[in-house]
Amino acid sequence: MRFRASSISLTAISLALAGCAAAQHAPASAQTPQAENADHSATKQTVVQTQEEAESAIKAAQPGTEIILANGKWEDFDLLFEAQGTADAPVVLSAQTPGEVILTGQSSLRLAGEHLLVSGLVFRDGYSPRDSVISFRKDSSNLANNSRVTETVIKGYSQPDRAQRDTWVMLYGRNNVFDHNHLAGKTNSGPTLAVRLDSEESRENNHEIRNNYFGPRPIFGSNGGETLRIGTSHYSLTHSGTLVEGNYFDRCSGEVEIISNKAGGNVFRGNTFYQSRGTLTLRHGNGTLVENNFFDGNNKPYTGGVRVINADQTVRNNYFKYLTGTGFSGALVIMNGVPDSPINRYHQVDNASIQGNTFDNVSVIELGEGSDTERTATPVNSSFQGNLIVGADDTVFDVHDDISGIAFTGNVIAKSQPLANGKGFLELSAGLDRSDEGLLAPQNDAGASPPFGVSREKTGVSWFPKASPSAPFDGGQRIAVSPGTDTLSAALENAEEADTLVLAPGNYVESKILTIDKPLTIIGSEREKVQIEFLRPNLFALEGNGALALESLSFSGARAPDGSGNALVTTSPRGGSGNHLVSIKDANFVDFDVNRGFSVLSAGKGSFFDRIDIAGSRFENFSGDVFRLDQETDDYGIYNAEYLTITDSTFEDVGGSVVSIYRGGTDESTFGPHVSVSGSTFKDVGKGSAPLMRLHGVQQTTFTDNDLDSVSAIDLVKTTGDPQVTVSGNTNGDNGPDELISVDDRRPIK
Ligand code: CA
Repeated sequence: MRFRASSISLTAISLALAGCAAAQHAPASAQTPQAENADHSATKQTVVQTQEEAESAIKAAQPGTEIILANGKWEDFDLLFEAQGTADAPVVLSAQTPGEVILTGQSSLRLAGEHLLVSGLVFRDGYSPRDSVISFRKDSSNLANNSRVTETVIKGYSQPDRAQRDTWVMLYGRNNVFDHNHLAGKTNSGPTLAVRLDSEESRENNHEIRNNYFGPRPIFGSNGGETLRIGTSHYSLTHSGTLVEGNYFDRCSGEVEIISNKAGGNVFRGNTFYQSRGTLTLRHGNGTLVENNFFDGNNKPYTGGVRVINADQTVRNNYFKYLTGTGFSGALVIMNGVPDSPINRYHQVDNASIQGNTFDNVSVIELGEGSDTERTATPVNSSFQGNLIVGADDTVFDVHDDISGIAFTGNVIAKSQPLANGKGFLELSAGLDRSDEGLLAPQNDAGASPPFGVSREKTGVSWFPKASPSAPFDGGQRIAVSPGTDTLSAALENAEEADTLVLAPGNYVESKILTIDKPLTIIGSEREKVQIEFLRPNLFALEGNGALALESLSFSGARAPDGSGNALVTTSPRGGSGNHLVSIKDANFVDFDVNRGFSVLSAGKGSFFDRIDIAGSRFENFSGDVFRLDQETDDYGIYNAEYLTITDSTFEDVGGSVVSIYRGGTDESTFGPHVSVSGSTFKDVGKGSAPLMRLHGVQQTTFTDNDLDSVSAIDLVKTTGDPQVTVSGNTNGDNGPDELISVDDRRPIK
């Protein structure tokens, strides 16, 4: 058996050094030095092969003991690493080969004690039976201090039920370091990583969270999709003292808070936020510093920067680039507070310093955001100084209330208008030069100076691939399928992720429900020539990360059973809680009327679709709602789909609504749902009783350039936020309603 004693010992030494760095909050560029000639004499190394051997070795561990997990799969491993190391001789738990020790099934890791070091583990293919995957405590009275978890991966280790809440990593205790880890693909409720302050022993904690790769966090469709949270409102006036430095947030788009900072005295330095929806939110707590970060929205929807609430917050020398978010998701958002705010509401912004930042083609800087009859306390004693602002268009500032409590000095602005009186702004008319990296240099001493952020490569681990930027349906093999009975299910057995089944002309009959747990495309040669029938209530059941693209096919519901709740595409929670995608192009759907309530797509409660895109397709003879996304009726702000888009399609003889979607409650954590319908034809939809579309709580409704004949109006219920509605260019036949949309505003009066 060969193991890499020297590297393990070196890690142990760097742990001790990391502890020193924690005390000083040194910048990320100060890489931990590694000694060339470590003294191994004090260490005792044990390779363990079984869970029992690991438990015995941990019980017997002394300072300097190194317990090495043998390569392979460790299933259902409820690992408790409780030991006492010393600063010079930590107790080490590591992988025989980093990345080749896989914890699967229902595994978890708890650390308790002093000076512990964990490295090289991978959690995947399962989920934690506890409230966390990695916890820096055994229980409420046994915490870990002065300990470190490094080079560890948690990939897709999500609860199969999206609503089942957990937190992948929970930091407790003091002086702990979480660095160079890779966390990606959390799809269930709860933050990816949380710093807990729920006992005296976890406050003033001096933790370091650095150089981690936070991979994509898909849209959660509710509150509870934060990537990082520090504290809770309950401990919001508590000093946390946590350093978050040099981390890469790659498409962390769970909800409106990428990071929810809910305690005081934290530092966010040198992190990169790439294409992440929402903001770094200084939600509670005072005296937090945000500097040298790089926010690159790449012009994607809802990408934002920093949202400021509470006292003594500093935002300086950050670079904000191509951010399109508005409102709570603006490039910079200074909130109004609530006078004498309760601890869980909005404290007034007092003594905020916004200094020396560059705003490069951002949509909006919001000032006094959230102003209403409750949030009336405007910002005071604050400064906005030396910033370089290049708006995306003529208007970049959006002022919601009195901002006389913010002093504007030494700012430079181009392409957009300064604030009303222009005081404190120098306007530049000439074009601005960019560096080789495409960044703007400071102008007249205004704007940010490098370094900003961190590169992807410097975060996470080298031995585990970071998320691909490619589209889910791209790549894969083409598999030819012949007509007949159950030829589709036979072909699916051999299909890998992103493969395409190519159907030859002819008739297809399926007697099984086809489980789709990965992205797959099914394509016909010509839609009229490929006819598909199915003998069960559903043809496709999406599980896990199931995604389906259907193109140039014809589906008939005529041979489905006469039961209840039939749908061509449905969801099943059995295979996990991943987000789904459905894309339908150039397809026919006819005779979905053998029973009541037959749909093309019916989303189960707890399921979530990132997108449902329909183009150039025909839907004829339906008994139910064609797209049914209305199972989340608990009014907690949860919903089934972020985007539903229909273009250039035809709906005729539909008993229910074309779309039924439900998003209840007044929560402000999400952006959707979005519904867009254009260039389509609707005839005899709703049969006199159902609305054309039932849109409860939809935030963006677009209905343009459609032809209508014998339909009812669209029903829109406003539940929260500022729902946007565009209805234009439609041709309404003789039997249509006078008003195409009926709006019922049920939002609480503010
Ligand atoms: Ca939240």
